[in-house]
Amino acid sequence: MEGASNQERVSTQAIPTAAAPALFSGAGRLTDSHGRAITDLRVSVTDRCNYRCVYCRTGTDGAQYSELPLADYLRIIRVFVSLGIEKVRLTGGEPLLRRDLTSLIREVAQLRTSYAADSSPFDGAGGDSRHSARGGSSNLDIAVTTNGHLLAAQAQSLRDAGLSRVTVSMDAVDPEVFARITRVPGSYDRVLAGVRAAQAAGLGPVKVNCVLLRGFNDDQIVAFVHFARTEGVILRFIEFMPLEEDRIWSPDTVIGYDELKARLNAVRPLVPLPGNAPGETAQRFTFDDGIGEIGIIAPVSRAFCGACSRVRLTSDGKIRTCLFSQTDHDLYSVLHRGGSDDDLAAYIRNVIAQKEARHHIGEPGFLKPSRSMVHIGG
Ligand code: SF4
Repeated sequence: MEGASNQERVSTQAIPTAAAPALFSGAGRLTDSHGRAITDLRVSVTDRCNYRCVYCRTGTDGAQYSELPLADYLRIIRVFVSLGIEKVRLTGGEPLLRRDLTSLIREVAQLRTSYAADSSPFDGAGGDSRHSARGGSSNLDIAVTTNGHLLAAQAQSLRDAGLSRVTVSMDAVDPEVFARITRVPGSYDRVLAGVRAAQAAGLGPVKVNCVLLRGFNDDQIVAFVHFARTEGVILRFIEFMPLEEDRIWSPDTVIGYDELKARLNAVRPLVPLPGNAPGETAQRFTFDDGIGEIGIIAPVSRAFCGACSRVRLTSDGKIRTCLFSQTDHDLYSVLHRGGSDDDLAAYIRNVIAQKEARHHIGEPGFLKPSRSMVHIGG
């Protein structure tokens, strides 16, 4: 896999457009046993990647899990949306390697209208206003997380297909450091062109996610702030989590919330911003002159599990209820055995009921998750 060119190998089969799943009886939106509403689905459509970022991949293991036909992801997404999912994020590996990703986005975007017509399973069943009045999820938010290498060529078609937003993973703004991290020469210029193309296509403000590692790229903090203010992107610094393929994580490599905030304040005084939505993972800031937005996502030093609204589907159709789960739940086998939409929904509800309360990073007995980040999808 890793030897393959950046030009992807994918199936080009058309996506059969079956009707939306019938409404499900049952008790309203997906909620776990800790009372958290699960509204945010992340779907990995491949675990192949055209980068080999040193803190994520060992560089030797290629893709390890299969991919489903896009029609299967679409069916699964439809069932999740009919259970109250409001945000669908497509991830990978590198999702833009799936050539027909735009057709999947186009079909998922259809859910914004198809549910608008139907009466909603949430009518009066504890659903919120957006659902009860106009059906399932008329303003379904569809996003992609990408490394940006293929974005410049695809930004407009992704937007035209119905994509709402794009998040680009960048861990440096110095071309040499960038190439050293990704192990792909010339990658910085490609990604910068992708960010600009996405802004131009109306997918802005583009979010840029940077995973910070001490002694590795934390010397990029100042340059990143200037980059974000100049390019008009929303910058998110993310604490390094023990999700890598290799075993390089240690508490010492983490730039914690308080330290990072102090280092940003030294660049220019920070001004806190209110959260965008419940369950948002970032602490948002602008600067004293109002230019730029920076977020700090601190799952290690300031865990936010209490408001977690996320569930993930891996590229091979397994549900992961937490990034740090020790188990996968094989939803695809239900579909593959000919299960109905009701069967899929029942399976999903049952799995969500088992969702972990939180991660245990840094605690005695903490176990690394059964899959690394590239095989989960972020
Ligand atoms: S660690 Fe698990 S429970 Fe905590 S926020 Fe992340 S996915 Fe949710």
